[in-house]
Amino acid sequence: MSQTLSSLVETPIGVTRYGLFIDNKFVTPQTEKYIDVTNPATGEVWAQVPDAGAEDVDLAVASARRAFEGEWAGWRAADRAKFLIRFGQAIADNADEIAQLQVDENGKLIREMAGQARLMPEYFNYYAGLAQMPTGNTNPLHLKDIINYTVREPLGVVAAITPWNSPLLLLVWKLGPALAAGNTLIAKPSEITPVSTLRIAELAAEAGLPAGVFNVLTGLGAPGAALTTHEGVDKVAFTGSTSTGQAIASAAGKSLKSVSLELGGKSPNIVFEDADLDSALNGLIAGIFGASGQTCMAGSRILVQESIYDKVVAELVTRTERIKVGDPQSSDSEMGTIACQAQYDKVRHYIEVAKNEGAKLVAGGVPAVVEGFENGLFMRPTVFADVNNDMTIAREEVFGPIAAVIPFTDEADAIRIANDTEFGLAAGVWSTNIQRAHRVAGKLQAGTVWINNYRKTGYSTPFGGFKQSGVGRENGPNALLEYTEEKSVWVDTGQGVKDPFNPRA
Ligand code: NDP
Repeated sequence: MSQTLSSLVETPIGVTRYGLFIDNKFVTPQTEKYIDVTNPATGEVWAQVPDAGAEDVDLAVASARRAFEGEWAGWRAADRAKFLIRFGQAIADNADEIAQLQVDENGKLIREMAGQARLMPEYFNYYAGLAQMPTGNTNPLHLKDIINYTVREPLGVVAAITPWNSPLLLLVWKLGPALAAGNTLIAKPSEITPVSTLRIAELAAEAGLPAGVFNVLTGLGAPGAALTTHEGVDKVAFTGSTSTGQAIASAAGKSLKSVSLELGGKSPNIVFEDADLDSALNGLIAGIFGASGQTCMAGSRILVQESIYDKVVAELVTRTERIKVGDPQSSDSEMGTIACQAQYDKVRHYIEVAKNEGAKLVAGGVPAVVEGFENGLFMRPTVFADVNNDMTIAREEVFGPIAAVIPFTDEADAIRIANDTEFGLAAGVWSTNIQRAHRVAGKLQAGTVWINNYRKTGYSTPFGGFKQSGVGRENGPNALLEYTEEKSVWVDTGQGVKDPFNPRA
């Protein structure tokens, strides 16, 4: 039997123990099991969260279903819009704490997490506006005295399964449109970064969201998998690796749930000989070393035209070696940690694979030593030159600070190499020739193309992938529609049905 926690518990080892967040309360898990949350910069355990099981999933789904059919169903779009603005304000009021929690979870820089925390209210404000936009039509017909109109209704219960790299921003991309459209939601954060999600669910409750509209399950694998097959879940909205996305699509397919998938990438960042090189080099660095390369949109394949190849590689090495890897809390650090031990081991594994396959290591490739953080998971930013697009380092998503530099001859060659990948999330084009820049953008198989910039996203513009990088789009007006079902309603305004076998009579 799960019990309500009147306050969060201090464990014998002196860390805060959280509950699951169900019905606007922290509750103990049926499993009575907990997992540790570790700070990757210090190696210290600083919190514990429940390792939920199938019975906990049932409780959360039942709560979300009750809420969907209960008080929440009576909220008008205007009420939901007002709530989203209040929720955004609650996040703004607690932005420092929210940023800090995420840094303690995944070791990203405080300045990046603080920037994301400040931006989240803007997403809610945007979807508050869209909540009241009409989404149905009145349709012209071939029939007399008949009116047909469509309405958009919420889907029901949404499972939002999120990764560890930007735990809250990627959740907000789902929460904004899902709540604006009138759904209820169960968030399942990564086991690496669960606390920040529990905290913003608490803030949503404090901002007046009815019980059960936003529940949070934490745990090691089981709750995520159970949500994808649960008959009480209507949609799975997922961000994470392509392999997990494929497993989720397959599991959810058995009950034909709606699915949106924002998956991995191996994005090309292409530098033409006519580029503004100073700007391009900054864009290359930001593209692959921002967030220690732990972003789905990382510009991990750097394609450089042969005529400027040596110059660009030399300057890239110089700038990479200047990058300050350090304390995520410090404002002059430029790269924090790798988020967890498994990911750290994976990054180091790919460095060995690249060396063995003949890529030329020209910068980094080793752990970074950070004074005072001897147990931290820090890596030097790494550049491999003379990479061939068939090498593992050019084909598989590393999700770490490793750049693979690949030469190309001309525009056609650049496009061929860029598109020679199973992924299609994003791409960058660096050129001062506007005809070329737009021409190349048109030929790249990617959901997002940045021209003379990189790694920008926003609430009003769609983000998602071609090919193995995903299904559906987040952000922008159409994301709201992805959380709705369309219903078509026929109305007879004439004499009614006169002949059952000739309905048009
Ligand atoms: P995963 O894709 O494995 O996990 C993302 C989320 O899905 C987590 O909440 C995870 O929960 C959950 N999950 C895992 N398996 C299932 C399943 N069968 N059914 C439902 N939910 C599931 O990413 P990881 O965090 O394990 O990282 C592994 C790799 O994924 C990284 O090395 C990186 O390459 C890539 N990645 C890509 C991201 C992107 O945005 N493209 C983001 C994060 C990672 P739990 O943590 O409890 O297993």
